[in-house]
Amino acid sequence: MASHFPNLFTDDNNVDSKGYTTNSKSIEFGPWHISYDVSCILPSMCSTKVVCERDDDQFCQFCIYCKELSIPHFPDMVFPKNILILEHNSGAKIEFNPLDALRRVSTRIEAIEVACAESWQESRPDAEKQKKSFDWTFSTDYKGTLSSNITVEETDETINFDLLKKKEQIIFYHDLTLFEDELHDHGISKLSVKIRVMPTYWYVLLRYFLRVDDVLVRSIETRMFHMLNTDYVMREFTAKEAKAEDINMPTILMKEADDVIPHLPLKEKHTDKLVVNSSNQN
Ligand SMILES: [Zn+2]
Repeated sequence: MASHFPNLFTDDNNVDSKGYTTNSKSIEFGPWHISYDVSCILPSMCSTKVVCERDDDQFCQFCIYCKELSIPHFPDMVFPKNILILEHNSGAKIEFNPLDALRRVSTRIEAIEVACAESWQESRPDAEKQKKSFDWTFSTDYKGTLSSNITVEETDETINFDLLKKKEQIIFYHDLTLFEDELHDHGISKLSVKIRVMPTYWYVLLRYFLRVDDVLVRSIETRMFHMLNTDYVMREFTAKEAKAEDINMPTILMKEADDVIPHLPLKEKHTDKLVVNSSNQN
């Protein structure tokens, strides 16, 4: 199919000062510059002790996570530089990154009472830290990070899901994992973000999916939708949850988020309009 879109892709390999390689891809979509980085996993310990111990604002990724987060453990796999950024030429910016998502993991709530909780905790190495209760499912209601020049407004408008289902040419697509944990082989906790750019819109799905085997299934999703030539982004937040015993489907079919989420009862839903304040546009 002949594309009438100019070739606006950029593909870069970058190595930062600490030898951390990221692979970046980006595309221009109207006034939006959409880009993502793909990187490797967060190390499980400090990689540059000499530098980090100087305490002069230069830290490795691991030390940044330790300083910034109050949870005593991180998920098994965190991809610190897997970041999706949608930047408007007015300077407005929407970003999805694992650090901000993990900031929203509760350190107060009682851990879900499950049979595996104890063995899960015992399996973790630094046992003295275990005393501190935190949400070991890493559940997060993160909705993306917005710059201050984006106004959040309530709205009755909804995302046009019929349009999303229409078969059209996909111009740009990626599925980024921000973090993932297998809950000591008792299920999965995963946060991922997908970007899809189509001829007339872009669409983002940020999905937190939790399955504690035979206990609980939960999804917390944020969808963003922007139609070309409008000055706003629709943002729909949904939280769903069910006890495994209340879901009328075999455990084997609960493995894939796409298969089980449609069967979960809705707990919370709200839709906002993110208005881009482009006062410095011509
Ligand atoms: Zn360090």
